[in-house]
Amino acid sequence: AMALRSFFVGGNWKMNGDKESLERLMCTLNTASLDDRTEVVCGAPSIYLDLVRSGLDLRIGVAAQNCYKEAKGAFTGEISPAMIKDCGADWVILGHSERRHVFGESDELIGQKVAHALASGLAVIACVGEKLEEREAGTTEEVVYAQTKVVAENVTDWGKVVLAYEPVWAIGTGKTASPEQAQEVHEKLRAWLRANVSDDVADSVRIIYGGSVTATNCRELASQGDVDGFLVGGASLKPEFVDIINARA
Ligand code: PGA
Repeated sequence: AMALRSFFVGGNWKMNGDKESLERLMCTLNTASLDDRTEVVCGAPSIYLDLVRSGLDLRIGVAAQNCYKEAKGAFTGEISPAMIKDCGADWVILGHSERRHVFGESDELIGQKVAHALASGLAVIACVGEKLEEREAGTTEEVVYAQTKVVAENVTDWGKVVLAYEPVWAIGTGKTASPEQAQEVHEKLRAWLRANVSDDVADSVRIIYGGSVTATNCRELASQGDVDGFLVGGASLKPEFVDIINARA
């Protein structure tokens, strides 16, 4: 089943960088030796999508970090999937924990965004993950299943979806989930897909891990059977992102 799923590493640059530093980062990535079995996508701030798509080698995909659920109109400050595509980017990250918890996005809104992004021809990195208090209360499964259900109800083409498991307590904290903790949730999410979607989807959808992934911890995480890659925040802004891309090399 593993051969069906190529390794996927996304960088989530969040609200970081400027033209000068991003040019430097792109130069590092463009000239690096990257495992050609890894699919690589960089999530750029929307204002730099054009710059990043023009500057990055075409073997690296570009993602927006968010989009709205409508194609156009009176939605001041928002960007549409059509605009993202117009800048040459093919991906969007949706449901990131910072969108959920800093900006208060509901499951319903995230579901609508997933549906509209896919209908517009973007591929989607859909994020789920429990908070620390939810893990401590023993509700991790319940939380990630509920989030995944809303995503699944809005997916029209699973070939264009990557599912990211990102425990909120591990994001930007330096507290990585252990390989066993990550594998446990990934395995359960795959079982959920098998029970609620199909065997084909369960076998083929990449489930990637996010939360304090570094060059130091990526190899052991990547050796887990159901960890098909990573979504990387802080370390994606540094040269060590190359080592994470090559975690299975
Ligand atoms: P981090 O962020 O790698 O800095 O923990 C991951 C993410 O938010 O996608």
